[in-house]
Amino acid sequence: MKIGAIEAGGTKFVCAVSDEQLTIVAREQIPTTTPAETMGAVISFFQKNPVDAMGIGSFGPIDVAVNSATYGYITATPKVGWRDYDFLGTMKKAFDIPYVWTTDVNVAAYGELKLGAAQGLKSCVYLTVGTGIGGGAVINGQLLHGFGHPEMGHMLIRHDPADTYQGHCPFHADCLEGLAAGPALEQRYQRKAQTLAGDDPAWTLEANYLAQACVDLTVTLSPEMIIFGGGVMKQQQLFPLIRQQFAQQLAGYVPTPAIDDYIVPVQLGDNAGITGCLLLAQEQLR
Ligand code: ADP
Ligand code: ZN
Repeated sequence: MKIGAIEAGGTKFVCAVSDEQLTIVAREQIPTTTPAETMGAVISFFQKNPVDAMGIGSFGPIDVAVNSATYGYITATPKVGWRDYDFLGTMKKAFDIPYVWTTDVNVAAYGELKLGAAQGLKSCVYLTVGTGIGGGAVINGQLLHGFGHPEMGHMLIRHDPADTYQGHCPFHADCLEGLAAGPALEQRYQRKAQTLAGDDPAWTLEANYLAQACVDLTVTLSPEMIIFGGGVMKQQQLFPLIRQQFAQQLAGYVPTPAIDDYIVPVQLGDNAGITGCLLLAQEQLR
């Protein structure tokens, strides 16, 4: 029995195959170009490495509503060629096996819950802060889907009056992604986020916005843990800053788990998504 995984990102797709113990036996990275080219390479990878079930975590937005005519599609992405693309249908045509279809951040949340930072818990939220901001959640062991999937990167944020940067989300003036993703840092300070000094005040502002997101997630979902990943979160000094401002903003209203165990970095790193895909596919086979 072999299990397959696709972590489909805006810059690259990672395909992997594991045995039943989740030991990876084949893995390949494919650049995200056109659907024809990228999906052609994905399909030939799984032709060479056949699997019995597959978990797919995709960049979005995607359609996860099982009864929808466009279930399995990537929908309103600005990414050329991928808008209204039938991702799951293309895979099903190539391989008639069971699939789990959800977002890249939901699979990462699932991986972290089962084998990463949130092991032993029943719920967690995973937020990635990179080129964009995305968030996924597992609640009571289940991926969180509603009429669609969460879009936590677009929660509205109280704009710091001292911050003159307008944000770069084309849809919202003051959303989290527009104010706090990597490109926001780059535009606000006119330099790459990774070149800002560790003690630059930029990180205090960044932590203010990320802490607000944690407060909103806390009071709406009551997750047992909030896990941060993505390029920007490589700045480890953000964690104490976020925790401190989170505590101030929440003002003691909700007794959360101990703060150092509540707002934490991703543990599986770049493997969180693939691990989640494999686990979900494995459960599909049971
Ligand atoms: P993606 O979101 O495209 O999958 P990343 O998570 O690496 O990829 O996010 C890229 C963004 O993160 C860029 O805006 C980049 O400036 C920022 N970034 C990457 N590494 C760091 C770092 N060490 N410190 C701060 N920002 C970083
Ligand atoms: Zn937005």
